[in-house]
Amino acid sequence: MTDPKRQGRSGRPWRRAQKRMRRDKGDVCILCGHEGSQDVDHVDALARGGSPLDPNNHEPIHGADGCPTCLRKCNQTKGDKPLESVLLLRTSRDWYMPA
Ligand SMILES: [Zn+2]
Ligand SMILES: [Zn+2]
Repeated sequence: MTDPKRQGRSGRPWRRAQKRMRRDKGDVCILCGHEGSQDVDHVDALARGGSPLDPNNHEPIHGADGCPTCLRKCNQTKGDKPLESVLLLRTSRDWYMPA
C-alpha cells in the first residue's frame, strides 16, 4: 500500500516539478503572502485525491523551516485542508501577527 502523502514527493519528476513551480510562481507563499517559501503545496491535497505532479496543483508555501517574516509553518497549518477553508481562517483573525 502506498501512502498518498508520500506519493509524488520524491524522485526526479518531483524535483523537476519543484523547479518548474519556483520558476513559474516564485516564492511568495499562498497562505501568508510573504516571500521566502521553501516548500511546494498541493492545492488539492494528495490525501484528498489531488494530483501529485500536476503543475496546476502546485503553489509555493512555507514548509518546516517556517516563514522568515511571520514565522508560521504554513504547510503545517494547511495540512490536508482545502485551501479556501484555510484562507477563510486567515481573514478571521490577525494572520500577520506572530503568535
Ligand atoms: Zn507562508
Ligand atoms: Zn509569512
